[in-house]
Amino acid sequence: MTALTERPLSIQGERHQREPVPLATDGDVDAYVDGASDGVLACRARGRHLFAPPDRTRLVFDDITDDDLLVRHVQCQSCGLAWFRELWDTVGRGRNQRVEFIDGRLEYRPDPRTGERYQSPPGRGRMTPRQVRGSMATAALAGQSIARIKAQLRAARQP
Ligand SMILES: [Zn+2]
Repeated sequence: MTALTERPLSIQGERHQREPVPLATDGDVDAYVDGASDGVLACRARGRHLFAPPDRTRLVFDDITDDDLLVRHVQCQSCGLAWFRELWDTVGRGRNQRVEFIDGRLEYRPDPRTGERYQSPPGRGRMTPRQVRGSMATAALAGQSIARIKAQLRAARQP
């Protein structure tokens, strides 16, 4: 059995080692939102991917590591560009054999058909879900007068 430190770092572990990345500008976020697919925007606005938990009746491993851990890749059901790479160990023998989840990490792959990428181009800064939601909402309101919307809402409030 290999020491735990030789295994890939968890998402949290990687985050602590990274240099702080500045926030993306509103213009960069707008450009990203403008070109992103609906599934990608849903993950960006939610700040989380949607990975299905293990199926109760069927589990498919697609690789094995040098130290004999089983590997499973799970694709995000929303964006389709994020994959969760899971490492599973086996314990016990025969009828007592079990599989145990050891570690997982995010991987991103471009869409093979469109070339779309989840991550913004390098050097553009980090996008927060709040920024993405703001950009999406602003785009949805394009061409409408916010002053008029406010006036209508105020008028509707009066008895
Ligand atoms: Zn996703």
